[in-house]
Amino acid sequence: MIDPAIVGRLGFFGQSSKISETDFNMLTIISFTLGPVMTNSYLISDADTGEAVVIDPADEGHLIVEGAKKRGWRITNIWLTHAHFDHLGGAASVADESSPPTPVALHPDDYPLWHAQGGALLFGMHIDPGPEPSIDLQHGQILHLGNNQFEVRHAPGHTNGHVMFYCEKAKVLFCGDVIFQGSIGRTDLPGGDFDTLIKSIRTQVLTLPDDTRLLCGHGPETTVGRERSYNPFLK
Ligand SMILES: [Zn+2]
Ligand SMILES: [Zn+2]
Repeated sequence: MIDPAIVGRLGFFGQSSKISETDFNMLTIISFTLGPVMTNSYLISDADTGEAVVIDPADEGHLIVEGAKKRGWRITNIWLTHAHFDHLGGAASVADESSPPTPVALHPDDYPLWHAQGGALLFGMHIDPGPEPSIDLQHGQILHLGNNQFEVRHAPGHTNGHVMFYCEKAKVLFCGDVIFQGSIGRTDLPGGDFDTLIKSIRTQVLTLPDDTRLLCGHGPETTVGRERSYNPFLK
């Protein structure tokens, strides 16, 4: 069992490539754990249309593309929760599968970080960040995937332009590195701020129903209710 607090702090370098599949009403979610810090990537699809989106293609984009092809899905967009390198290292290989390349969505406040290779150089790495983001995400914006709607929730504190994707119908929040099971995102990297992060969690996560599933950027899934009761950072 890997401690998500450690993973969330980018401190754990280990084996990866774990894949699992879950159905939430009409939304099918395939989760992949990929890359040097075991980042969760999510391939989500609307069952009716076969339209699919990749949230945070962390690494090894060919595995995500294969997952979509195997199911007859068409990847139409890449949505980034934020621009850290460990959430977009597979974007280039996912995008290159389509012509023109699959468009990438990001909050503009993370563009400087995206242009700095997501901070990879701080960790002695180089990455190809893929196509420049062409969809500006804004707080309150509604994104569509077939019959599913996702609300964009701006949640700064881990990075300035961090967003989360909330699907009310499927009761699921893709929360990136804002909150983990029993932990929160690190705030010591450029753009990080502890008080801002706690405020984001209180206003953008804890305001959701307790049975909302939290699909995190690292570690196992959890729920709003569980974190409300047990997360030591929220006492
Ligand atoms: Zn991050
Ligand atoms: Zn991360």
